[in-house]
Parts: sequence; C-alpha cells; structure tokens
Amino acid sequence: MRCPNCFAFETKVIDSRTNQTGSSTRRRRYCDHCGYRFTTYERIEEIVPLVIKKDSRREAFNRDKVIGGISKACEKRPIETERIEKITDEVIKEIQEFGEKEIESQKIGYIIMNKLRLLDEVAYVRFASVYRQFRDIEGFIQELQGQAEHPVVDPISVPLPFPRKGQAFQKKKTKKTAKARNKS
Ligand SMILES: [Zn+2]
Repeated sequence: MRCPNCFAFETKVIDSRTNQTGSSTRRRRYCDHCGYRFTTYERIEEIVPLVIKKDSRREAFNRDKVIGGISKACEKRPIETERIEKITDEVIKEIQEFGEKEIESQKIGYIIMNKLRLLDEVAYVRFASVYRQFRDIEGFIQELQGQAEHPVVDPISVPLPFPRKGQAFQKKKTKKTAKARNKS
C-alpha cells in the first residue's frame, strides 16, 4: 500500500491483528522512505440488502449508521467499543439471514433494539424510546444528536416525587443535626 505521507509505493506491515469475531484485520504499516506510520483495516465485503426508508426511498446499507446509532445509545455507559463492533456484526448477520434483497429501516431498528435489551438497560431504554417515536434509524440518530445540546434525561434515572412521609423524616433529621451542633 502507498504511503499517505510521501506517496512512496512500498510500505511495510509491522503489526497485524484480527478482531475477536474474525470479521476484520487491523494492520499497522510503516514507510521506509519517510518513517510515517499508519493503520489500515481489512474487512469482509458485506453483501447486505438495500434499505427501504420511511419515505419508500431505497439506499445502500451503511454500517456506520448502525454503529452510530448503537454508540449514541451507549454513550457514557460502561460498554467497550469492541462490544459495539461485535453487536454491529451480529445485526448485519441477522439482516443477511433474512435472505431478502430489501429490508425496511424500522426492521433494522427493531433488531438493534433487541440486541441492546440484552446488553444494557439504559442504552436499551434510550434507543427504544426514540425508536418507537421515529421507527427509523436516521431519525433516531438525528434525535439523539439534537438532544446532546440539552441535558440528556434518562427515563430510568428520573427520581420519583418525594413522598410526604419522607420529607417529614428529612426535616426531623435536619433538626437533630442542628441540636447536635448546639450541644458541641
Ligand atoms: Zn512515506
């Protein structure tokens, strides 16, 4: 492969690593001519159906969109990038197993939703709440990106209204603390 820095024709592979699922190989390359180091990825060409969008338009399947949607749902969750890559591979495999030439985008969303359900509750709720509204992976990504400007509210983490009993208990506790302070 050609050096992207000095355009020398020959570069050396100095490290080669295949990912856990065996679906891609990452290679570190070195240019003898200028000393530049860079990375390339080799991936099996995925033959996947065309995606039928909400407005009935067809478009080529885009792996990055699936990764984008999953990553957004998993943001700030303890989930490794490698895990997201693996789920994306699983989603693609399931899509291919349908054996259809075309697939609705909401069906892809549904597959992703089911994968997230087994992975992480918060990521699942985030994805599911937006998916149910939009039923379209693109709408989902747009919505989540828009949300990034506002504080993201997780349905799970929203506290329930504090009960009256609890409030009374808290007041009592504060009084006690004040008393204790007076004593000392
Ligand atoms: Zn070079």
